[in-house]
Amino acid sequence: MHEIRWNPLIKQWVIVAAHRAVRPWRPDEKQERFMCPFCPGAPELRDLDKWDVVVLPNKYPALISNPPPVELEKMSLLLKREARGGAEVVVETPEHQGDLCTLTLDHAKKVVEAYKNEVEKLSKAEYVEYVAVFRNKGKEIGVSLTHPHSQIYALPFIPPRIKAEIDAMEEYRRKNGTCMICDVSRYEIEEGKRIIYINDEFVSLIPFYAMWPYEIHIYPIKHVRSLRELSDKQVLYLADALRVVTATYNSLLERDAPYIMVLHDHPVKGDYEYHFHVEFYQPYRDKEKLKYAAGIEWGYWVFTYDGVPEERALELRKACREALPSLGEVLGRCL
Ligand code: ZN
Ligand code: ZN
Ligand code: FE
Repeated sequence: MHEIRWNPLIKQWVIVAAHRAVRPWRPDEKQERFMCPFCPGAPELRDLDKWDVVVLPNKYPALISNPPPVELEKMSLLLKREARGGAEVVVETPEHQGDLCTLTLDHAKKVVEAYKNEVEKLSKAEYVEYVAVFRNKGKEIGVSLTHPHSQIYALPFIPPRIKAEIDAMEEYRRKNGTCMICDVSRYEIEEGKRIIYINDEFVSLIPFYAMWPYEIHIYPIKHVRSLRELSDKQVLYLADALRVVTATYNSLLERDAPYIMVLHDHPVKGDYEYHFHVEFYQPYRDKEKLKYAAGIEWGYWVFTYDGVPEERALELRKACREALPSLGEVLGRCL
């Protein structure tokens, strides 16, 4: 079974992909390198010439370009549609271990270029409304493969979280005549107390409205709606910020740290008020303890923040300063 069902209670689509239930969990550590589908020599990669970054189809795609037709329910409330879309994997390096921060700056730039090119390519299909680019890292997040990679989903609808941000930014623009994220960034740069890292093009900060203890957002300083509109210089400076933020998490937890990274991009069709940005959610609330999204968070969408963002900003800054020497070339500075 492969289809998209409508949840009328919260007006959200659910992707039903039966075949994903059988996808493997992490192979045991010793065998992992041998079995890794993203290492050079794996069947999908055997015929490629030397590569730094390569995009592969997801072997267990939640959405596909030619889904089976759906049989509608008799009750119209129980709505469903075809699971038409796409799912890809960006293999970021031939190296089996690592993270964005272990790539050189030039190499990390190629990763961001791959995101940009894939969004551009996937946006051309008439059924694609949104392209979601994200990176899950660590067993705490449920990542089944350790080889550095990101994922891309081409969706036939605008995700609710993006819709909520668009609605908020459009309302803000109507009332104030300005862009919400431009205004937040300007204020935060002046104020300084929540900023972790800044370069010529991007500011990395713990938002005033953080929901996760060590949440970090990366905002382009100049107004830009979409990843596809980033200049070559902005692509490079985004790669720089991504390296620094991921290194900051490693330094904070003093190990290879897990995280979720999501690109929040303008939809690929239409014309909305938006400001491109990247969000990082860190599952730990200190070096040892996980912050779980449980009853109040999952059941009600109410987040409780453990601690004070401004104090966590100081910890993140310290971690950022400690991480910088390990990074080689960097383009900005920790506060
Ligand atoms: Zn590998
Ligand atoms: Zn803006
Ligand atoms: Fe966002």
